[in-house]
Amino acid sequence: MEKKYPHFTEEHEMLRQSVSEFCEKEVTPFAEEWDEAEAYDINAFRKMGKLGFLGLRAPEEYGGGGSDYWSAVVMFEELVKSGASGLMAAVGVHTEVTMPALMQHANEEQKQKYLVSSIKGESLGALAVTEPEAGSDVASMLTTAVADGDDYIINGNKIFITNGARADWIIVATKTDKDAGYGGITEFIIDTDTPGFEVSRKLDKAGLRSSDTAELFFTDVRVPKENILGELNKGFFQIMSNFQPERLVIAIGAYAAAERALEIAIDYAKERMQFGKPVSRHQHNAFKIAELATKIAASKELTYRAADMYNRGLDCLQETSMAKWYTTEVANEVVYEAMGLMGGYGYMKEYPLERAWRDMRIQSIVGGTTEIQKLIITRTLGL
Ligand SMILES: Cc1cc2nc3c(=O)[nH]c(=O)nc-3n(C[C@H](O)[C@H](O)[C@H](O)COP(=O)(O)OP(=O)(O)OC[C@H]3O[C@@H](n4cnc5c(N)ncnc54)[C@H](O)[C@@H]3O)c2cc1C
Repeated sequence: MEKKYPHFTEEHEMLRQSVSEFCEKEVTPFAEEWDEAEAYDINAFRKMGKLGFLGLRAPEEYGGGGSDYWSAVVMFEELVKSGASGLMAAVGVHTEVTMPALMQHANEEQKQKYLVSSIKGESLGALAVTEPEAGSDVASMLTTAVADGDDYIINGNKIFITNGARADWIIVATKTDKDAGYGGITEFIIDTDTPGFEVSRKLDKAGLRSSDTAELFFTDVRVPKENILGELNKGFFQIMSNFQPERLVIAIGAYAAAERALEIAIDYAKERMQFGKPVSRHQHNAFKIAELATKIAASKELTYRAADMYNRGLDCLQETSMAKWYTTEVANEVVYEAMGLMGGYGYMKEYPLERAWRDMRIQSIVGGTTEIQKLIITRTLGL
């Protein structure tokens, strides 16, 4: 099944080998245990930093690898194979959501403090945008930041925040001008030891159980204006411009997990005998597998197309949304059908598809739902 793609150089393949070896030793053996314990080992994250995996495409002057986007593709493809989806989600938010925001919008002082420690794996970041009353409709958020001399006072609450319970710093979206809609949102970087910040709940969820997803409260959190990320009242546009790497990594995670799920199901179906022949030899099942393999290939190509454009610095809004919705919907179909191919055994916790199925459901919701991706595509088509 392994194919060579022109995007990957010898250097990328060496990186693939070292991520694979790291996962084999430090991640795969613990994936199940972390899921049960509802927490991946933070030392695995720290080791990834030490090995240079967290800053692959960050500038060398901050300790990064200075590589291209294909290095991130390689890293996440291998991380998914480890089966530790919770760690994958945490690292995905850290390197593909918060770090691109820092690289694009942070000032030099902020980069020295947050980007350098993030690359080393010495600090963990999160992005808090969603609120109980403001999900897809980001601009309707209620959290406020009110100027008070040279400081801002932040009040409000955020929900469903990945890394929220363990983060050292969080990029928080706030309203700085209540009447200005999209033009009244500002992002702040907040250290999680700032008085008034509270993790009110670690949320209990169906999948990705080893990653933490939290509800956060901000009560009179005082931060200096130097903590503004980027520009005052430009937060909405900053968030939107940083959605491409987030959606790309979700798409990468989805096709890679779908490939893994189908491989598991194929191996099983070739061995499992019913009605005198392997389950895989019943034509309905063989055709089903052929269809799923085709859909995975299509979703991978769609993602590679968007990744290639992103890598070359081109506008890839439409391509990323297409890859995000299609790939995550296909991956959900694949894990569901792969589980079906394994019959009752597929539903059992002792087989990996039970968790793959639970872990996948959220991928068509986070980072903007399938409906929101379609809305974006309609706009890029001028509809
Ligand atoms: C495990 C997990 C991790 C998350 N991590 C983070 C994080 O790190 N940071 C963060 O800020 N957020 C995070 N989120 C939040 C996530 O991004 C939101 O859940 C998502 O954007 C959807 O928002 P919502 O849940 O409020 O749904 P809603 O916006 O209420 O949507 C409900 C339904 O209505 C549909 N809908 C909404 N608007 C439209 C429309 N205009 N047209 C058609 N259909 C529409 C949606 O597609 C969906 O089906 C996370 C969520 C989860 C569950």
